[in-house]
Amino acid sequence: MDMLKILSELPGAPGREEKVRDYIRSKVDGLADEVSVDPMGNLICRVKPTIKGDEKAKKVMLACHMDEIAFYVRSVDDNGFIRLQQLGGFDFRNLFARRVRIQTRDGGEILGNLNPSGKPIHIADADERNKIPKMHEFFVDTGLPKDEVKAKIRPGDPVTLVQEFVEMGDMVSGKCLDNRVACWVGVRLLEALSEAKSAYDIYVVFTVQEEIGIRGATTSAYGISPDIGIGVDTTLAVDIPGVPGEHQITNLGDGVAIKIMDSYAISNRELVDEFIDLAEAKKINYQMEILPLGGTDAAALQRARSGARAIALSIPTRYIHTVTETVHKDDLYATVELLRAFLEQ
Ligand SMILES: [Zn+2]
Repeated sequence: MDMLKILSELPGAPGREEKVRDYIRSKVDGLADEVSVDPMGNLICRVKPTIKGDEKAKKVMLACHMDEIAFYVRSVDDNGFIRLQQLGGFDFRNLFARRVRIQTRDGGEILGNLNPSGKPIHIADADERNKIPKMHEFFVDTGLPKDEVKAKIRPGDPVTLVQEFVEMGDMVSGKCLDNRVACWVGVRLLEALSEAKSAYDIYVVFTVQEEIGIRGATTSAYGISPDIGIGVDTTLAVDIPGVPGEHQITNLGDGVAIKIMDSYAISNRELVDEFIDLAEAKKINYQMEILPLGGTDAAALQRARSGARAIALSIPTRYIHTVTETVHKDDLYATVELLRAFLEQ
């Protein structure tokens, strides 16, 4: 889990995925036939077919997004407090008393505390205690003199949450496991493929800007024009207190989730059946997933050019879009195994 710890702790705001990309690039060195970065910043790793068939090899594109929900500096006020622009779907109830990291333009990093404006509980009245602040009410305090803040930090500097990655029993927990777990799966899969044979022309793509509207997958899928697209992402595991059974999506530890649909894409029926049959034949733990709201890069793969057969595989995740995102290690291994089994056919 050392690689996942590093991936989880790296900052990768949408549009500023370079640190994650550089790290993945160092891990896939020698594992792919071609490695390139496209104009938007997607990292494309191609493994050419090792089994020759009669027909032209079908292109399979996997998409694993590198970005995380984050912020950009919006402005610095006269007292040196920083206001933020959000990128991605935060639940503001989870943004109180957070440590953040600001990446400055000289390549440095400045730590700060994120809090909503207003009074502490001791002096707040009942109304103030109960209200959930809006994004514009949050600010970052770096502890630096205002002149230094103004000199070092400018609008557009990325701001990401800070959280240590930990192993807890069979689980791992940390920030942005959405979607660094898929980055981990992508690298592990490339390692596995380097010792396997496949009739497919495989593109494992580490995409950018998923959290703000699957933007990197849209352009990279256009360029690659896959026959089959597979999105790899996290999904909700709400197997926790307070969520009744009829609202369950997936269960932690019950295996990789084969997505039937979410609100952006309906998985190709034959691919769903193929993945189920494979999982059963290979005795890989799996579960089915229907997600009422949300989407993944699979939606972009499906709509590339004149369309592709597409599906998403999901890793069940508790407390999604918080810094305590939690996944089960067995579900990670099951995801790699099922993808490998599919690509080796
Ligand atoms: Zn995601």
